[in-house]
Amino acid sequence: MGKKVVITGVPGVGKTTVINQTISELAAEAVEYQNINFGSCMFDVASGQGIVESRDEMRKLEQAKQRELQRSAAQFIAKTEGNVIIDTHCTVKTPGGYLAGLPEWVLKELMPDIVVLVETDEDQILMRRMGDESRVRDAEGYRALCEHQEFNRAMAASYAMLTGCTVKVIINADDLLDRAVEELKDILR
Ligand code: AMP
Ligand code: MG
Repeated sequence: MGKKVVITGVPGVGKTTVINQTISELAAEAVEYQNINFGSCMFDVASGQGIVESRDEMRKLEQAKQRELQRSAAQFIAKTEGNVIIDTHCTVKTPGGYLAGLPEWVLKELMPDIVVLVETDEDQILMRRMGDESRVRDAEGYRALCEHQEFNRAMAASYAMLTGCTVKVIINADDLLDRAVEELKDILR
């Protein structure tokens, strides 16, 4: 049986960077993980339907549509065998409030062994967002970002209650990417 690890964190915390470096370092030790981006699976369907042009438009779609896209992404990902990392969000900030990234029907499809929360100081995240021109990040202040990170922890706890998975917090601090990667490697080996 492969290991299923869900990796979450607010936009701009550096999830994808941590994941990519971890996967390549583990491959050098012959530990193989497939990296699946949940948002990309949703985007493939949404762009195929012609309803969005960029991945950052999806969180503005109506709630029912986002749920439908979540479901199709989960069903697709559930078919994957072996060790899998799923790059996604504990909660998605939508105009209508926080949307669970893994509502019960998604969670039951995926049944992760571990949910990882990648976190760091809110100041650092705000600086990283300002430096990233490739994405349309929502304008968000310090307090809102604190709330989002807090909310993600609360959601992760509920995911643990529903599945029996463990929850691991990994700090991706400025200039300490290697430390985050080491911690992630430890739980993936
Ligand atoms: P990302 O590239 O990880 O920031 O994801 C891009 C977009 O995909 C997010 O802004 C969300 O709209 C969507 N997305 C990713 N994961 C989920 C999820 N588990 N549930 C709902 N939407 C998601
Ligand atoms: Mg990412």
